[in-house]
Amino acid sequence: MRIVVLGGGFAGMEAVRVLERRLRDRADVEILLVSDRNYLLFTPLLPQVASSMVEPRHIVQPLRDIRGARRFRFRRDTVTDIDFAGRRVIMAEGVESYDRLIVAMGSVVPSFGVPGVEEHVLGYKWLEDGVVLRDHILDAAEHADHEPDPAVRRRMLTVCVVGGGYTGVELIAELQDFFHRYIVPRYRGIDPGDYRLLLLEAGHEILRGVHPTLAERARRKLGREGIEIRTGTRVTRVEPGAVEVGGGEQVPVGLTVWAAGVIGHPVLAHVPAERDRLGRLVTRPTMQLKEHPEVYGAGDAVTIEDNADASIPIIPAALAQARLAAENIVAELQGRPLGTIHFAPQGMLVSLGERDAVVDVLGIRFSGYAAWLFWNALHLWKLVGFRKQLQVALDWGMAQVFPRDSSIMRRVSRCPVCDQHAAPPSRERDAA
Ligand SMILES: Cc1cc2nc3c(=O)[nH]c(=O)nc-3n(C[C@H](O)[C@H](O)[C@H](O)COP(=O)(O)OP(=O)(O)OC[C@H]3O[C@@H](n4cnc5c(N)ncnc54)[C@H](O)[C@@H]3O)c2cc1C
Repeated sequence: MRIVVLGGGFAGMEAVRVLERRLRDRADVEILLVSDRNYLLFTPLLPQVASSMVEPRHIVQPLRDIRGARRFRFRRDTVTDIDFAGRRVIMAEGVESYDRLIVAMGSVVPSFGVPGVEEHVLGYKWLEDGVVLRDHILDAAEHADHEPDPAVRRRMLTVCVVGGGYTGVELIAELQDFFHRYIVPRYRGIDPGDYRLLLLEAGHEILRGVHPTLAERARRKLGREGIEIRTGTRVTRVEPGAVEVGGGEQVPVGLTVWAAGVIGHPVLAHVPAERDRLGRLVTRPTMQLKEHPEVYGAGDAVTIEDNADASIPIIPAALAQARLAAENIVAELQGRPLGTIHFAPQGMLVSLGERDAVVDVLGIRFSGYAAWLFWNALHLWKLVGFRKQLQVALDWGMAQVFPRDSSIMRRVSRCPVCDQHAAPPSRERDAA
């Protein structure tokens, strides 16, 4: 029996962990994990990479280190297709067959068909995005520092984040801290009025899913800090140096970051299986695909039929789905009946930058410094591996005493909108 798990994110790693534990004594079972990255990214801390609060390497854990002495095989490869009929996974560097498959390849950032999104925005999902954004802001600051024209300076230092969910809110709060606490005090040519942070949300509220009182508190706090929040504002086009909203108004920006929603993985767009309107594979409550019961799905890549609560793209849901998928494969092997998903989100924690957060968990709601300490403690605890926990705790501690690191890590190889200032000369850019 060959069990193949696709994706080394939260869902994939949880599935492998459960399979290993439950099938330890089954020498006839082979477990293979395939992922295109060789590390697990702890996404909740990704906004802090952009603000230079934590070191990028400290929020990832190599999959081979997580594996330790466990016996599963790991193959770093990119899945390009799945042949359900032939029970084969097609990858960039070969083919693997399976008896049972768990699809946990996550999601991608959608463009919603808005012109210019593909070409001119920075998505915010992977570690590279955090590093690119951090470098871009620092590079723009280096140029703005000696730019004599205040209008050009302000445009360069305008960051527009699209999407008022927790990712967009946490990111813009981190950027505000970065500009306010680090950039303005250190770059003598940049005044507080020279930078502008914009958060655009198409819905009528930010932080949908958080209790309205806390969402309002977050909105007021960010507004007090000078972040412009525009709800009911739909982006209709993105151009180099500007976003168009509501089909007419042009807002000058230096960089647009897209943190609006998730859609199913593009590799799954062509497989012969049912998908929802967001392109996610539809599973039964057992986490099996309807058309192929030997294929299970978990995490952001899937949605469970008639169960929106359990299909929400958050880590606890991904873990619960992956656990069930793995347990059901074990149940199949042991000839037991399969279980069904029982998951409901327990709440939300949203960081509002240094020393502030809102917490809405199990009906308990609080905000401010205590909430921020709770947010930190919980995320530190959830981080995989003592070494990484220590490194992140040290990053946080050091940030209280020393200035953040402002060295630009690499020549900016991707400058989605600010060609004239932050991109390298075109020869280098083309080569990158
Ligand atoms: C910036 C940010 C902040 C977030 N903060 C929170 C938070 O605070 N709390 C929370 O609950 N959720 C948060 N989330 C959401 C959370 O990260 C996702 O719900 C979770 O990662 C889903 O897990 P997954 O395993 O389905 O997907 P992922 O974690 O995305 O893992 C997918 C894996 O598949 C691999 N893969 C992708 N394509 C291929 C391919 N073609 N071939 C091989 N491998 C492939 C990827 O490399 C990755 O390892 C955040 C997300 C982002 C982007």
